[in-house]
Amino acid sequence: MKIIHSIEGIRAVRSGYSPQSVGFVATMGYLHEGHLALVKQAKRDNERVIVSIFVNPKQFGPTEDLSRYPRDMERDFALLHTSGVDLVFVPDIETIYPADFQTVVEVSRITQTLEGAHRPTHFAGVTTVVAKLFNIVQPTRAYFGQKDAQQAAVIQQMVRDLNFNLEIVIGPTVREPDGLALSSRNKYLDTEQRAAATTLYRSLKAAEGLWESGVRDGNVLRQKMMDVLSAEPLARVDYVSAADPATLVEYGSTVPAGSGVLLSMAVFIGQTRLIDNFLLAVREGE
Ligand code: AMP
Repeated sequence: MKIIHSIEGIRAVRSGYSPQSVGFVATMGYLHEGHLALVKQAKRDNERVIVSIFVNPKQFGPTEDLSRYPRDMERDFALLHTSGVDLVFVPDIETIYPADFQTVVEVSRITQTLEGAHRPTHFAGVTTVVAKLFNIVQPTRAYFGQKDAQQAAVIQQMVRDLNFNLEIVIGPTVREPDGLALSSRNKYLDTEQRAAATTLYRSLKAAEGLWESGVRDGNVLRQKMMDVLSAEPLARVDYVSAADPATLVEYGSTVPAGSGVLLSMAVFIGQTRLIDNFLLAVREGE
């Protein structure tokens, strides 16, 4: 496995891979089974796999956890090596954002809701860095997690709008046995908070139960999630949502016939902001 820090280095190795297919997984490091599941999927689908590790300052707000975001590069390299990754790109900040950097890649409409409404500069940071990584790595396929549902939708929109010549593949959310979605940020949780953090999954399950029993009212679905979350004293809700999976616009009292729903939420457990979601489809024939 090659570990490369420079853009020229990546370009040189990557051009040697052609005409083989290249799968790409972009990460901020501190890897867990969620990341590794994307790597496995990339391994299955492609002849070569490239992973990037870059904690992108542009996607963190001024009061967010950039400086204390967890890092363990040696462990990450060992995991990627065992997973059969060919090449790891580990740029430093000046490599990605030299002093005269002045371009922003921004997707407009679907970044206005959910995470975008609560983290106003976040998605411009994501799309700017992902566009750069796509240009540097030139992958055949790029893999993103359903865990970050809106991010996946925003990147798909960017790829369509800007005609990036690659395929986006979305992998399912990987969870702990008790349902908590794996996240590098789970490291921040103490024992009590870790137990409380299952409230996100439990609230999604409760709303899913209503959906499966035929409830098609956005307000009722949101209220169900709120009821479960409110019962957890360590949880502070940032938002809960029952939205159209295509537009990410909130449903009112009626979900149109034949439409699915994206249930999603951001919840503070202590200082740690966790997100989770379920994408629910309609039943056959509905
Ligand atoms: P991050 O390092 O948090 O930027 O995540 C890198 C990629 O891994 C993104 O595409 C995430 O959506 C994905 N990812 C993070 N956590 C999970 C998870 N629990 N299950 C599946 N994918 C995940």
